[in-house]
Amino acid sequence: MTTRGQRHAAVVTRREQVSAHLVRLTMSVPGFESTGILDEWVGLVVPGQFQVRYYTVRSWAGDELVVDVVVHDEGLVTGWASGDCVGDTPEITAAQGSFSPPDDAAWLLLVGDLTALPAMARIVAGSELPTRIWAEVADDLTGYLPAGTDVTWLAPPADGRSGLAEVVEGIDWPEGEGYFWMAGESAQMRAIRKHLMRERGLPTSAYDVMGYWRAVSSRQLRAVDPEPIWRAGKERGLSDEQIWADYDRAHGV
Ligand SMILES: Cc1cc2nc3c(=O)[nH]c(=O)nc-3n(C[C@H](O)[C@H](O)[C@H](O)COP(=O)(O)OP(=O)(O)OC[C@H]3O[C@@H](n4cnc5c(N)ncnc54)[C@H](O)[C@@H]3O)c2cc1C
Repeated sequence: MTTRGQRHAAVVTRREQVSAHLVRLTMSVPGFESTGILDEWVGLVVPGQFQVRYYTVRSWAGDELVVDVVVHDEGLVTGWASGDCVGDTPEITAAQGSFSPPDDAAWLLLVGDLTALPAMARIVAGSELPTRIWAEVADDLTGYLPAGTDVTWLAPPADGRSGLAEVVEGIDWPEGEGYFWMAGESAQMRAIRKHLMRERGLPTSAYDVMGYWRAVSSRQLRAVDPEPIWRAGKERGLSDEQIWADYDRAHGV
């Protein structure tokens, strides 16, 4: 999404546990510029790695940037953010966003899982449109959204599972023109895009549905940066899965 040239050096200055699965990281990022788009995000590259993971800009003030990181079972950023990362120096890519309600939108509907909660909090705080939220989160985060937010908290059907596609199909849609924003697990998002196009007949300008993460069987975490192997694999036209399979074979995993 962003080239290396646009990366900023960051320093983690604070780490707070917001809830069981949410960690807030404050970073000093000299030169950071917000786009002003309410769901804006940055890419995060943790020290010693090269792969980018994306995180919503929860807030910023001057050079200080805050992201809220979901810590799940295992993962590159999950592993790093679960430990004491204060003083670490990740890289941050330039901010970008996609929330773009039409000028005549009279309301907002926001739907998402825990990874979408930071963006939904910023959208509801930054928009004057009447807004309803459906948030599928396992943690108690009642104070996370601005006071008075019209929110329906939903428990995930099972660990690592989501029932959001079904929730969206049952929404009592408001009258008139509005804007639907949603983010979460990619397979759920694909189902919802189909529903919005086929059942609701919405033009693409009336909604923004983003896959924020992909439920895949996890692969072995690596202690070293395998960038040269990854680049060589890409030059040979291999997929990520083929590259990692070759890497694991070569390292006896
Ligand atoms: C535009 C955008 C904005 C985002 N904003 C945020 C944000 O503000 N906060 C946030 O926490 N995430 C956010 N995400 C999602 C985040 O980038 C992914 O969840 C990312 O894969 C996490 O990286 P990781 O290194 O921890 O795990 P990875 O190394 O990417 O994945 C390891 C394993 O964990 C699984 N996995 C990945 N994410 C999750 C999850 N959320 N729950 C359960 N299992 C998972 C994968 O399927 C894989 O098997 C955003 C994504 C996008 C595209």
